[in-house]
Formats: sequence, structure tokens, C-alpha cells
Amino acid sequence: MSQIHKIVIIGSGPAGWTAAIYAARAQLEPIVFAGVPKQDPGPILPGGQLMLTTDVENYPGFPEGIAGPEMMDRFQKQAMRFGTKVEGKDIVRCDFGRRPFVLHTHDGEEVRAHTVVIATGATANWLGLENEMRLARSGGGVSACAVCDGALPIFRDQPLAVVGGGDSAMEEATHLTKFGSKVYVIHRRDTLRASKIMQQRFLEKPNAEVLWNKVVVDVLGDERVEGVLLEDTKTGERSRLDVKGLFIAIGHTPATKFLKDSGIELDESGYIVLRSRSSATNIDGVFAAGDVADARYRQAITAAGMGCQAALDAEHWLTLNLDA
Ligand code: NAP
Repeated sequence: MSQIHKIVIIGSGPAGWTAAIYAARAQLEPIVFAGVPKQDPGPILPGGQLMLTTDVENYPGFPEGIAGPEMMDRFQKQAMRFGTKVEGKDIVRCDFGRRPFVLHTHDGEEVRAHTVVIATGATANWLGLENEMRLARSGGGVSACAVCDGALPIFRDQPLAVVGGGDSAMEEATHLTKFGSKVYVIHRRDTLRASKIMQQRFLEKPNAEVLWNKVVVDVLGDERVEGVLLEDTKTGERSRLDVKGLFIAIGHTPATKFLKDSGIELDESGYIVLRSRSSATNIDGVFAAGDVADARYRQAITAAGMGCQAALDAEHWLTLNLDA
């Protein structure tokens, strides 16, 4: 019979590594399933969304900023320093009906655990255009996070565009009005989905403009974004818009597909539902942290905080139930 782990952490972003740091220092010998790189359609990497972020300037303690991948590398090293084990595998199915729980890896291994922390994050939705993905991967001016990337020098005093019509698009676009010379919101319909107050906050900026009934059909530029090709959804007419940055804000998808049939309660958008003010899910002994359970804040610092909570909650559970 395979070893029974006290705590298994699924996911290797800020939430997963922080849970690991706390669990390892509590001598729970955590094991982190860090995942395998994939393309779906955008890049999904162990380390999560920070692996696609250039400079992180809003994480306290790094006054000079830090590159997203370097930050995740440091988180991992800190977790490993206290004895965290790391497996570069995906968990593809969870059997929470048995105790200890049984988790299945993508290569057919069964992993047994008394407690589980799910920290698999959420991925930004992309349009799925070839040049969009290429320029997002190369840091050439396509991003799915204006709060993370908007203040970068390449966007300063330049015309920028945001795709989407929801609250995220309004929030990102409003944030960008501080940096860009002009900020266009490109929306596929003639009314915004965003709340009135968020719309108003954007529309009252002198450098704000909404382009109605338009979709982006191509992103132009070799090394850097030079513009986008638009198509009118009513007339089919195509036009070019010169912008130096393109921000995609068309929603996020939580990484919870592998929880199908696991019994974990998800909301209508697929996010894990937590019990109020704790990391507990509806299944006793299963905890969740970070963007997979948070459609609202989605920041590295909030995810890390939730990871800490999940480890403390799991430790408490183990003390009560196993005297670990
Ligand atoms: P959302 O409300 O689902 O809006 C997504 C937007 O993207 C919609 O306008 C949609 O257009 C558009 N869209 C989707 N797929 C597209 C595609 N392939 N091409 C072009 N446009 C596309 O997502 P969200 O804005 O990320 O918000 C998610 C949730 O978080 C919401 O409940 C929101 O209220 C909340 N949120 C709150 C705040 C806040 O209160 N501060 C901030 C951000 C988010 P259609 O309208 O035509 O469907």
C-alpha cells in the first residue's frame, strides 16, 4: 500500500506554495502536485498565472519589483527548504468518497491523503488568436492582467485597448487610463455587461472610448503590438486600430474540471464554494485557496494569504481528527 500523506497540495501558484511553507513548518511533510505545462489555448504553466507576468510591482516586500517566474521560483525554494516534496504531475481525478482520500495522477498513480488543499487557480480566457498568443508569450504587449502589467514602461503614454464588456474590462480599462494616452474598450455588442458604476468610472475619464459592436480578428506587429484588426459584428466591415498594448478581459475559467464528480461544491461559474471566513469546502478535510475559490480579488498576495489559511485549517483538522 502506498504512503498516506497528511496533506497533499494541488497547484503551485502563490496559494499552493504558501500552503506548503506553512504545512512544512508545521512538520506535516506536504507534497505539492505542481502540474505539467500545457497549452489550452493559452499557456498554462506550473507556477500559475505569475509565470506569464513580467514585473510584479504590487507584492509587498519587493520595492524594486520582481519578475513573476522568479517570484514563483523563490516561493518554491522557500517551501522546499522546510521539506516540501514536489511532484511535476497533474491530478486528474479526486475520490473524496473514500478516506483517506484517493487522488489520481495523469500517469495513473494513486495518491492517498488525509487532507487536501486545492490551489489550482484560474486561467484568463483568451480570444485564441495565433498572434495574440505569440505576443502574450513573448511579453510583446498582449496581457490578460492590466493590474499586473499596465504600469510597464512600454504602455506609458501609448494608445491601448481592452477587449471585453464586463466589470473586469471596466476595471482594467479604468486602471489603464492612468498610463495610456488613450484607452479603447472593444466590445462585441452595443451595451456593456458591466455594472453602471464601473462603466461610469471608465467613461468619465477624458481618454476613454468604447468601440461598440467590434471584435478583434487579428493582432498586428512582429516584436511588439502595433495595432489590431477589428471586425464590425453588424456590418462585417474590417478596420485597423493603432494601439501599443492589448489587454484581454473576457473572463476567467477556474481550474476545476478535474473535480467533476468529486462532490466538491462549485458555484455556477465553476469556482469552489468556501464556508464563510475559512478555507473549508463542503467536504470535511478538503480545503481550497487562491483564485480557484476567489473570482473577486485574484491577486498574488490574496492567494498567498488564502494558502496560509488553508494550511492552518488543514493542520487544525489533522490535530482534531488524527492527533497529527
Ligand atoms: P464577465 O462578467 O463574464 O464579462 C466578460 C465580458 O467579456 C463580457 O462583456 C463578454 O461579452 C465578453 N466576452 C466574453 N467572451 C468574449 C469573446 N470571445 N470575445 C469578445 N468578448 C468576449 O467577466 P468579468 O468581467 O471577468 O467578471 C467576472 C465576475 O467578476 C463578474 O461577476 C463581475 O461582476 C466580477 N468582477 C467584479 C469586479 C468589481 O466589483 N470590482 C471587478 C471585476 C470582476 P458579452 O457581454 O457580449 O457576453
